[in-house]
This record gives sequence, structure tokens and C-alpha cells, in this order.
Amino acid sequence: MALRRDPYVLVVGGSDSSGGAGIARDIETIASIGVRTCLAVTALTVQTHEAVMEIHHSQPSLVADQMRAALQANEVAAIKIGMLATAEIIVAVAGVLRENPQVPAILDPVLASTSGRALLEAGAIAVMKRNLMPLCRLVTPNLVELALLVGSELAVDEDSAKWQGQELLNTGAQALLIKGGHASGPRSTDILLRSDHEPVRFDTPRLATSIRGTGCMLASAIAAHMAKASSLEDSVREGKLFVFETLKENAAA
Ligand code: PLP
Repeated sequence: MALRRDPYVLVVGGSDSSGGAGIARDIETIASIGVRTCLAVTALTVQTHEAVMEIHHSQPSLVADQMRAALQANEVAAIKIGMLATAEIIVAVAGVLRENPQVPAILDPVLASTSGRALLEAGAIAVMKRNLMPLCRLVTPNLVELALLVGSELAVDEDSAKWQGQELLNTGAQALLIKGGHASGPRSTDILLRSDHEPVRFDTPRLATSIRGTGCMLASAIAAHMAKASSLEDSVREGKLFVFETLKENAAA
């Protein structure tokens, strides 16, 4: 079959049986922005909206093979990476990114579920920082993930979040979107940090509602806009708006 020319986002992540997060959320988000998806599944999880009951990892070579086949089959214009589960899967994914440096990768550094179950094994954070983050065009930690990635206390204000972000940039990350969605206050503010630019703030009113999978949704929406050839900054702006509109619809429902 001929190579398709429509842009695709390659989604690399775990399945969530409840549909609240993971690849189901990613596909739904990217499709609603008019971009196609192809897949590399890193883990199968058994979940409800309240708990994670089981996690089964894919073999690292199977993840890399899925990625290579997806890249061969389609015109992949961006890669969205979510749950990676193990250090070995991180190394496998990094290997494929190194073979495809022209395709921008957006990494949502998924460490744990909201219910508290680890979605990345202990000890794999160092591997993620060293082997994978420098290859990604953007990494999208929330404040809890940022603190765990730099080994600090939770940032108490924007300045300390920026300071922690700078620590991560110093270890080789190209760009960070620090998500303030779970902080408090009347505004929900995300900050785009890059070493060669001034920080850029993205701000929406904070809505009195929450849904699962907003992290998956944001990184997927950014990847979809990047696949449509928007700049990083415009893609982040559109992605943030997408999550805000979805939350607003949820609040009104
Ligand atoms: N399950 C999978 C496969 C995920 O990728 C994620 C987050 O990215 C989660 C669960 C956690 O979602 P939540 O924090 O909404 O529970």
C-alpha cells in the first residue's frame, strides 16, 4: 500500500481500560484536531476511574518495532510519548527517536496515576532524564512531576517552579512546559521554558471541575498542532485552549 501523505502523530504510551487516560485519550484528542494517529503500545493496564489494578509491560523490542513500523507506514509529523513503564522501554524509545531526529517528540513524563499507583518503575527517572529528555522537543511535567524529576520539594510559587525547570534544562532538556493546572488560585498558568528564550506564560481561568487524562490531552493536542506545522509556542497555546474548552464543556454538562 502506498505511503499516506496526511500527517500522523505516533502515540507511544499505555492503554487504560477505563478510557480516562492513556492512548484512548490521546487518539480521541488528536482525531478531534483533525490529525491521524498510529501507535506503539508500551503497557496494558487494568483500570477503573478510581484505581489501577494491573499493569503489563510490553517487551522493549516490541515497542521499538511498533514505532519503526508506524514510521515506515505513515508520514509521522510528531511523536507523543506518555507512559513508558520501565527503564528498558525508555532506552528502546530513545533509540528510535535517535534514528528519526527530524520528527519532533513531545514527552509527557508520566510517573504515577492520580490514584497514586506508579506508572514508571522506581529508578527509571534518571534514565528518562539522561537518555530520553534531551531527544524531545518538549517535556510537559506538572508541578509534582517537576519536583520528582529534579529531586526537590514541590514548588511553592512560579519563581521556584521556574528555578526547578531551569535545573531540568541544565540536564539537557530542550524545552519544558511546566503545568500549573493542579496548583491553586483563580488562574491556571503553564510556563514554557527554553534556554534561549524568555519564559512564556499561558494563562486561563481556573474552572471548578476536573477530569482524568488532562495531561495526556494537553501533550496530544500540542503534538497534533505540531504535526500540522504550527510553531512550538503556537502549538502550546492551542493545546492549552483545547484542554480549557474540554473542561468547560465538562463543567457545563
Ligand atoms: N494510565 C495511563 C496509561 C496513563 O498514560 C496515565 C497518564 O498519563 C494514567 C493512567 C493516569 O491518569 P490519571 O492521572 O488521570 O489517573
